[in-house]
Amino acid sequence: MPRTRYPKYIRDPGVALLSFAEIARGADVSSDPHFPESLMMPPRVIHGTTAMRAWTHKQRELGLRIALVPTMGALHDGHLALARKAAELADRVVVSIFVNPTQFGPEEDFDAYPRTLDEDRACLEREGCCDVVFAPSVSEMYPMGENLTWVTVDRMGEQLCGAVRPGHFRGVTTVVAKLFAIVHPEVAVFGLKDAQQFFILRRMTREMGFGTEVVGLPTVREPDGLALSSRNRYLTPEERAAAPGLYRALEEAKVSVVAGGERDARSIVTGVISGLTVIPECRMDYVQLVDTDDLQPIGTLEPGQRVLLALAAFFGKARLIDNVIIEVPPI
Ligand code: AMP
Repeated sequence: MPRTRYPKYIRDPGVALLSFAEIARGADVSSDPHFPESLMMPPRVIHGTTAMRAWTHKQRELGLRIALVPTMGALHDGHLALARKAAELADRVVVSIFVNPTQFGPEEDFDAYPRTLDEDRACLEREGCCDVVFAPSVSEMYPMGENLTWVTVDRMGEQLCGAVRPGHFRGVTTVVAKLFAIVHPEVAVFGLKDAQQFFILRRMTREMGFGTEVVGLPTVREPDGLALSSRNRYLTPEERAAAPGLYRALEEAKVSVVAGGERDARSIVTGVISGLTVIPECRMDYVQLVDTDDLQPIGTLEPGQRVLLALAAFFGKARLIDNVIIEVPPI
C-alpha cells in the first residue's frame, strides 16, 4: 500500500479521526470517512456525470477539498506529477480521462489517440494519489449531440497553437468548464508543457468566477530534455533521438536573453528556427514569442517582463510542442 499520503493525513489532526499509531497498529481506516480512499482501494472509475456529481456532493458534505487533474489519458510521469501535486493540495483527487472530440481538427489524430483506461487506472493505483478516475463517454459530456454552447477566451486562443489549430482552444475551454461544473474542484492542476492552454484556462477561471484555484506545474522531461508526451510513442527511433533538439534550441534562446542580453524578439525566434533547421527529422510548424499575460506577440523584451517562447514541430506523424518561460532580467 503506498504510504506517501500518510504524513498529510496525520498533519491534519482536526480532520483525521485515527492517529498514525492507530493506523500502524492496524486500525480499520475504512471507519474514518476522511481517510484518503486512494490508500484503501484502487481508484474507482466513474463514467456518468450524475454519479460523479453524487460523489462530489458527498465529499463536500464531509468538508473535504477536491482537486481535479484533467487529462486525455495514456498517462505518463508528467500526468502523475500533476496527480501527486493534487494530492498535496487537496483531500480528494479526481483524474479525468476524456479524449475530447471538440479540441481536435478534422485532419487530426482523434480516432488514433491512444485510449488505455485499464493501464491508466493501474498506474494511478500504483501511485496511490487518485481517488476517482472520471472517464465519461462523449455522449455524457455532449448530451445534446451537436454542441451549441461554447466558452471562448478572446485573442489568447488565436496565437501559437491556436493559429494553426483553429477551434482547438474553444474545445479545451468548453470541456474544462464542463468538468468544473460537474466536479466543482477547489483546485485544478495543469502542466506548463501546454503553456498556452494553462494561461487561457487560468484567465477563463478568473473571469468566469468558477472559484477554482488553477495551478501550473513545470514540464516533466526525459533525461535528454524531451518533454514527456503521449504522442512520443509515434516517434521512430531516429525521430526520438533527434527530438531533444527542440528543447536545446529553446534553452539556447533562453540563455541568450538571460545571460546574453538579447532583447529583440525577431532575433530570438530566428535563432530558434536556425536551431530546428539543422535537425533533418524536424518539420517546423511555428516558433513564437508572446507575453504571458495576454499571449500577444512582442517586439522588444522589457526588463521584468515574463514571456513565453513556444514552438510546435512535426517529427514524422507526431506533432510535438514545447516551450520555455523566460523572466527578462531587470536592468
Ligand atoms: P493531456 O492528457 O495531454 O491533455 O495532458 C493533461 C495534462 O497533463 C495537461 O495539463 C498537460 O499540460 C499535462 N502534461 C502533459 N505532459 C506533461 C509533461 N511532460 N509535464 C507536465 N505536465 C504534462
